[in-house]
Amino acid sequence: MSGVRLLVVGAHSADFVWRAGGVVANNTSAGGTSVVVALSFGERGESGELWKLPEQTEQQVKDIRRSEAEKAAALVGAELVCMDLGDYPLVVDDAALERLRDVIRRLRPEVVITHPAVDPFNPDHPVAHEATRRARLLSSGAGVASAFETVPPSQFFLFEPHQPELCGFIPTTFVDITASFETKRRAMEAMEAQKYLQQYYTERAGHRGNHARKVTGDSSIGYAEAFQRITPQVVSLL
Ligand SMILES: [Zn+2]
Repeated sequence: MSGVRLLVVGAHSADFVWRAGGVVANNTSAGGTSVVVALSFGERGESGELWKLPEQTEQQVKDIRRSEAEKAAALVGAELVCMDLGDYPLVVDDAALERLRDVIRRLRPEVVITHPAVDPFNPDHPVAHEATRRARLLSSGAGVASAFETVPPSQFFLFEPHQPELCGFIPTTFVDITASFETKRRAMEAMEAQKYLQQYYTERAGHRGNHARKVTGDSSIGYAEAFQRITPQVVSLL
């Protein structure tokens, strides 16, 4: 297993931890380069524990969320890029789209992962999907010589949303994260503002591990993360 240049784009600063923390940790320990973009800190809509405190302010929540995400990113060995675009609602204007495109040009990722296009429970996750989809295409063009700087096209995946069936998510790829699961657990624990998700995503990784064992017959798989492949895989043998 050799690592790749991996880019994960989340609407909020913790999204990558729950849904792709294991694959990021795997990639880093395999010698790859991992970059995580947080389009916002999730300061308004995804920082539940922090808003229980009296006299809380948005700036304070943002500061805490940034330090939590930095800690989680460091644990899984990723560079964290915070774009601070605001959440609930997340708005990605033309300037922000260009910033995201420039991250892709700089990293030249071989793999890009983001949210599914549909999420009936979240106003921001589909916005992050659309921005990532567009930035990826604006950086790679149409696979031909273009009037702008292009980088090679990346493989495009979706990470697993909270309620997969209702987001139209079909798992096409399981990543065995057994070896990195303790690292992922520590990264999840770093996101203290969303303690309520830690048990949930531990259970999810266990269920996906079960599914991965069934697909492969490999009884050594304890935990897995599920992804949906969007771009076709190109191989010389099946
Ligand atoms: Zn989110």
